[in-house]
Amino acid sequence: MQGLLEDLKNGFRGEILEQEPLSAHTSWKLGGPADIFLLPQNRADLQYALRVIQKNQQSWLVIGNGSNLLVSDSGFSGVVIQLGQLAKIEFLTGGKVEVESGVQLGHLIKLCCRKGFGGLEELSGIPGMVGGALLMNAGAIDTEIANFVSQVYLTDGQGEWALRREQVDFEYRHSGLDDKGVITRTMLQLNEADPKELEERRLKILARRKKIQNVSGAHAGSVFKNPAGEKAWQLIDRAGLRGRRIGKAEVSTAHCNHIVNMGGASSVDVLALIEEVQQAVLRTSGRKLELEVRLVGWKD
Ligand SMILES: Cc1cc2nc3c(=O)[nH]c(=O)nc-3n(C[C@H](O)[C@H](O)[C@H](O)COP(=O)(O)OP(=O)(O)OC[C@H]3O[C@@H](n4cnc5c(N)ncnc54)[C@H](O)[C@@H]3O)c2cc1C
Repeated sequence: MQGLLEDLKNGFRGEILEQEPLSAHTSWKLGGPADIFLLPQNRADLQYALRVIQKNQQSWLVIGNGSNLLVSDSGFSGVVIQLGQLAKIEFLTGGKVEVESGVQLGHLIKLCCRKGFGGLEELSGIPGMVGGALLMNAGAIDTEIANFVSQVYLTDGQGEWALRREQVDFEYRHSGLDDKGVITRTMLQLNEADPKELEERRLKILARRKKIQNVSGAHAGSVFKNPAGEKAWQLIDRAGLRGRRIGKAEVSTAHCNHIVNMGGASSVDVLALIEEVQQAVLRTSGRKLELEVRLVGWKD
């Protein structure tokens, strides 16, 4: 790590944190430290960091808001890069918007509504950054971010390249962009619409989400993907696991596909509960629940 830190100090302009607790960067409020935590200032800075990391042969991971991550209690051995400073948005003609990966999705949606760029308001209430939303192909109410993507830009530290939407393997909560590099920005194609109507729709969707996802405590949204033709929460409910607890982790009584950190849970508690849910649903419904949340820092 010493060589890496020295190389970073020679040209990296953003913030460098050592032994940064990842619990401060995940919606579950769980996870041990990252050896090094980087906040690049801009895309050039990100590329510099990636080159230094590669030269020093360190493991790395890029994160957004950590709203879909279960980080182990021992944390991540290597470098975690958070892209919150890559936050430029450019509104262009013909409904096009170029957005950097560190922009908060909710902030983008609000601005788009105000400017009469329609479509994304259907995704209101999904936490996270644009990069995370693209990687996960985040979605709600039969809409997903992929529907609005014209191009995705990636980097591996040696330059930036663009993929057209049809070159990305977008499916339900899947982009196939894992291990392809870091998503730096995207070009979205939105529809011109009346700002007042867009804003009304945005507020309506936010209110609806608040009502149906009234989960208190720290969590990461849906833990499992919905199997084809089924709802994961119904399968979990049918398996009798609503309210089931391990340590301080609980299958939410309000929404069975959410696991809540009731305060003081460990990542091990959450993972044990995940495994119990998977086994119970397999036993009772014959369905294998696939994880929607990503596991970080767990040894096999
Ligand atoms: C209360 C709550 C409600 C939610 N509701 C929904 C919902 O309705 N629909 C839905 O789809 N999801 C939902 N989620 C899950 C989550 O918000 C989404 O998956 C979100 O898009 C993740 O964004 P993030 O920035 O937090 O990504 P993170 O959780 O930080 O990362 C997710 C994955 O993306 C990768 N990644 C992040 N940024 C980049 C990048 N720039 N380049 C390459 N890889 C990257 C990470 O390595 C990781 O594998 C919810 C979560 C919570 C806490």
